[in-house]
Amino acid sequence: MKVRNIKALVPFKGYVVTEIRFEEIGAQINLDFDKRSGPRCPHCEEKLPRNKVGRRAVMDCPMPHGSIVYLTFPTVQGFCRSCDRYATTCPREVHPDCQATWRLMRLVSSWAALATNSEVATMFEISDATVRRYDKIVLEADTPPPCLDGLTKLLIDEKSVRKGHCYVTIILDGETGELLHMREGRKKECVESFFERLTEEQRAGITAVGIDRSGAYQAAVEAWLPNADIVYDRFHLVMNVNQAVDEVRRSQCRRAGTEERQLIKGQRYLILGNHENLDADGRGKLDLLLEANEAISTAYILKEQFRALFNYRRQGWARRALANWCELAHASGLAPFQRLARSFTRHCERVCGFVKHGLTSGLIEGFNNLVSRMIHKACGYRDLDYLELKLRHHSVMR
Ligand SMILES: [Zn+2]
Repeated sequence: MKVRNIKALVPFKGYVVTEIRFEEIGAQINLDFDKRSGPRCPHCEEKLPRNKVGRRAVMDCPMPHGSIVYLTFPTVQGFCRSCDRYATTCPREVHPDCQATWRLMRLVSSWAALATNSEVATMFEISDATVRRYDKIVLEADTPPPCLDGLTKLLIDEKSVRKGHCYVTIILDGETGELLHMREGRKKECVESFFERLTEEQRAGITAVGIDRSGAYQAAVEAWLPNADIVYDRFHLVMNVNQAVDEVRRSQCRRAGTEERQLIKGQRYLILGNHENLDADGRGKLDLLLEANEAISTAYILKEQFRALFNYRRQGWARRALANWCELAHASGLAPFQRLARSFTRHCERVCGFVKHGLTSGLIEGFNNLVSRMIHKACGYRDLDYLELKLRHHSVMR
């Protein structure tokens, strides 16, 4: 059998394959310097004198049947005159500080995007810590830093990343969903550290910021972004309204007799879910419940009406619909809705700002799902820098 072009297996510039040995546990591929070029300085590619000669072994991508592959190559340490310092040769395709090739590290990293780190560790027969290290190095190398020029819309949110109240503040580009900034905590300092990074011109270009009504970020936005309108984003507004519905449901449950309580209890998702997603059985149950309890029925109607607000495409219509909704909420006699109505009346522009600025909730929702998925996969993240890298990478690639 004749093997042609074996170099294509290990196409490392300046090196040639001299031997491939197949053993039971795997394969070993030995490289040598290409005689035409000889040892070269890794920084400037000038010829390097051979002061000290050695050999190094690193792991490479596994063979098709999964066995381990080791690559060995000569190393030369010498004084590079053009860099004016000592240098050690290393193929560009090998990470200087890891016992692995870049292509293996990239393979590990792309699996780490699909499976948990310990699954990947088992698959490649390396430790969890090594998977994390490779993944981090690859993500750092392959994820460009955010471009802060030309930003016009931001979305700011907080997210719980661990049990026991560990929160992070995240800032997304309101148009692309790209993660721009993540800091531990949920105080206004967490967003100020981002605004400090922007030039005056960049800050002036931001015209809308979507945030939660109750967060600590409003003051910081007002102080730092002179031209930005604060918009309460749909995701959080709908959540606020759902919380009001749930409050009504719980208070009715406490007051109800045994029979009615049976009907109300445990129906949270039936009431809060989207009506169009319910099957015939769900709809039947919901109708029964709404018929039996007037307060819950009113709360339910208010919730559905509030959702319809986001169908308006003209600011004036949205404002009128909101005023109408607030009146109904006042008249309902339900305290949680009356509280909401007071706040919505006061901040009508911020509630209806979505029409003018076209900020949708899709990006925040999508991002929240991404965070939950990542955290679930890693069973909670201890290393927040790593989490930020992973999230940023995914938000850019999306
Ligand atoms: Zn050099």
